[in-house]
Amino acid sequence: MSQSWQVELVAIGSVVPSTLAHLREDLAGILACPVWIATFHVDPKPFFDPRRRQYGAHSILERLLQPPPEENVHRIGITELDLFLPVFTHVFGAAQLGGPVGVASQYRLRPEFEGDFPDQIRLKQRLLKEVLHELGHTLALVHCKVPWCAMGASRLPEHVDLKDSSFCNPCADRIGVPRNELGLFTENP
Ligand SMILES: [Zn+2]
Ligand SMILES: [Zn+2]
Repeated sequence: MSQSWQVELVAIGSVVPSTLAHLREDLAGILACPVWIATFHVDPKPFFDPRRRQYGAHSILERLLQPPPEENVHRIGITELDLFLPVFTHVFGAAQLGGPVGVASQYRLRPEFEGDFPDQIRLKQRLLKEVLHELGHTLALVHCKVPWCAMGASRLPEHVDLKDSSFCNPCADRIGVPRNELGLFTENP
């Protein structure tokens, strides 16, 4: 099965251009589908919660639906801002399950956020995995128990490091992306 969907990346606020360019290239390679960077970006100011000093992920998802992406286009917002959902202190990202929009933040994925040295390569890998995860949700994938699968749940950035930047075979097959052939030996039970 090959997929019929495509991916549009949208900057939420200011995002370093090379971050988006690297993401686009990496995603296109992994997903084997068209991936592009939108020519517009979203102003995050209306979604700032002054009490929490964070940005509302739900409101950003609603904003990303206006106007709705064309059919089969999955629109993923990319941001350097700190996101929250009402019941969580923060989130790395959020998405509509089986809907066309998601958002991923690199704010808490920065190694220096937890006192480590800045590491651009690790940050790039973490953001790529987080984008794959939220994209998977927009394609109706739920959390996966295969430890390295991009659809594994991650509460901490260290958990993100344990995952691969790819989907396990059952998840890959469900959404129609090429299998990661290195993952042959770790199937879902
Ligand atoms: Zn998730
Ligand atoms: Zn999986």
